[in-house]
Amino acid sequence: MNFVLPNAPRPTADIPHYRPLGNECALFETAWIRQLPLLLKGPTGCGKTRFVSHMAARLGLPLSTVSCHDDLAAADLTGRYLLKGGDTVWVDGPLTRAVREGGVCYLDEIVEARKDVAVVLHPLTDDRRMLPLERTGEMLEAPSGFMLVVSYNPGYQNLLKSLKPSTRQRFVAIEFDFLPKAQEIAVVEAESGLAECQVARLVDLAVRLRALKGHDLEEGVSTRLLVYCACLIDAGMPAKEAVRAAMIEPLTDEPDVRAALLEVADSLI
Ligand code: ADP
Repeated sequence: MNFVLPNAPRPTADIPHYRPLGNECALFETAWIRQLPLLLKGPTGCGKTRFVSHMAARLGLPLSTVSCHDDLAAADLTGRYLLKGGDTVWVDGPLTRAVREGGVCYLDEIVEARKDVAVVLHPLTDDRRMLPLERTGEMLEAPSGFMLVVSYNPGYQNLLKSLKPSTRQRFVAIEFDFLPKAQEIAVVEAESGLAECQVARLVDLAVRLRALKGHDLEEGVSTRLLVYCACLIDAGMPAKEAVRAAMIEPLTDEPDVRAALLEVADSLI
């Protein structure tokens, strides 16, 4: 199958900055060209959403992002009939809009959504590429420029909330993790404007705190929190206060754990 990129490459200024970890950009582009759905796995705040916005902009595709939550039902994605001025009118949901118009539809934290979401995704994620709209009786065929991307954090998985193999095996999957130290420093420096030597100390601390994951902590410090912390310091906040607010408090509510984390932070910052 031959495809032509829909638009000429955009000027780099328009494209959200993303620093790749491996071959994920080539994989995304190939999956898009061959009309394959993509699953991104990895901890929170490691760059999955940034990656999708970077790739959508690079390929000149419209992007529609949905943050899934435990109340999100299939109708929130496909659409529903609403009362408007005395009339009942059908209003497309974000997934239906993306299927009608083409572009990338990104469902963030898909495992959070209700079980009926899988039912609408299944015919869309195999070679049929169809979206059945039961309520309107339509059967939409996804155009070649449509791509479904979903993400989840395997760290949060439990028996009640996990992606079933029957759903997982419908996607090409990419595993994400935090960048190696030198690259993470470059990202945090670029995002915050803080000097490299100061960022390096924050990243050292993040690496130490991440090593505690599974013992006292459910999740380690994300790159997102590192960027927040660096932004606070760059704006003039004392480093220790910024570290506490952006890298310790968001990690735990347990006083003992917090005290232990602060001790680690005090020894490095
Ligand atoms: P996720 O979707 O995995 O929860 P995000 O994509 O929202 O995480 O990443 C959080 C922030 O971390 C981004 O807004 C960006 O500032 C930064 N970031 C993380 N990884 C990268 C990367 N590889 N390149 C550029 N920025 C990154």
